[in-house]
Amino acid sequence: MMSFECECGNKTILFATGDRDEHGREFVEIEDDERLTFTIGEDSVLFRCSFCGYTYRLQQI
Ligand SMILES: [Zn+2]
Repeated sequence: MMSFECECGNKTILFATGDRDEHGREFVEIEDDERLTFTIGEDSVLFRCSFCGYTYRLQQI
């Protein structure tokens, strides 16, 4: 289990669904998407806190 915590204290969990893709990689879902939304861009993933509106960017390496 993984968790995400924003600076404002908003915290949510990413949980494993039990479903896997053809490579054996397990799908995860956000426990509460009212708290956190994510957007997949061309070269990065954006995580946006729904409480304070702060956005985190995870750059693809
Ligand atoms: Zn926040």
